[in-house]
Amino acid sequence: MLERLKKEVFEGNLQLVQEKLVILTWGNVSGIDREHNVVVIKPSGVPYHKLKVRDMVVVDMEGQIVEGDLKPSVDLPIHLAIYKNISYANAVVHTHSHFATCWAQARTPIPCLGTTHADYFFGDIPLTELPNIEDYEQSIGEKIVQCIIKNGERKCRAVLVPGHGPFVWGENVENAVETAFVLEKLAEMAYHTIMISNGNLEVLEEKYIRKHYERKWGNEAYYGQK
Ligand SMILES: [Zn+2]
Repeated sequence: MLERLKKEVFEGNLQLVQEKLVILTWGNVSGIDREHNVVVIKPSGVPYHKLKVRDMVVVDMEGQIVEGDLKPSVDLPIHLAIYKNISYANAVVHTHSHFATCWAQARTPIPCLGTTHADYFFGDIPLTELPNIEDYEQSIGEKIVQCIIKNGERKCRAVLVPGHGPFVWGENVENAVETAFVLEKLAEMAYHTIMISNGNLEVLEEKYIRKHYERKWGNEAYYGQK
């Protein structure tokens, strides 16, 4: 079942490697079939170079395996929490990409310093609260959802989990992987901007953030071709 979604999720996972967003087994991509309420996700602990389409695991919304021989990613509860709470999220991507992870480790939101950032995200990339250790993955999911709701569901498309790394989502796998790639570039640019400004950092004024975000994603967006 779901051969097309399995292929998309498989290719999304490989794309993380191609874009240098992950190494070894550091990350995962999933996609949801909203009609059948099932999620396709990378298996746990399988290196990307050994990954095959048939290794993709199909699970229901409670995390029970519907199809597949391997265990799903341990981060599955985090992906499920996002799908259950964010109606437009049809794909979730988690990486430990270098710069975004450094910001997460520094427990610092990524500030919106320029229009490249504002073209994709409305304001800073927020930091979630620290998760509980007892129900760890479920708690990460809850903290992410709380953070999304606090920052506005439609405007928050990526978060940093403190001490851990970024989680992003999108309308489809391709879009979510692109967002993860953009996030990493913005994290790198923000770091270098702060270095260059040497203590005299100015964040981008709200009017420019709004303009750039709204012209691409707002109700009256005019960026791109009709
Ligand atoms: Zn991780």
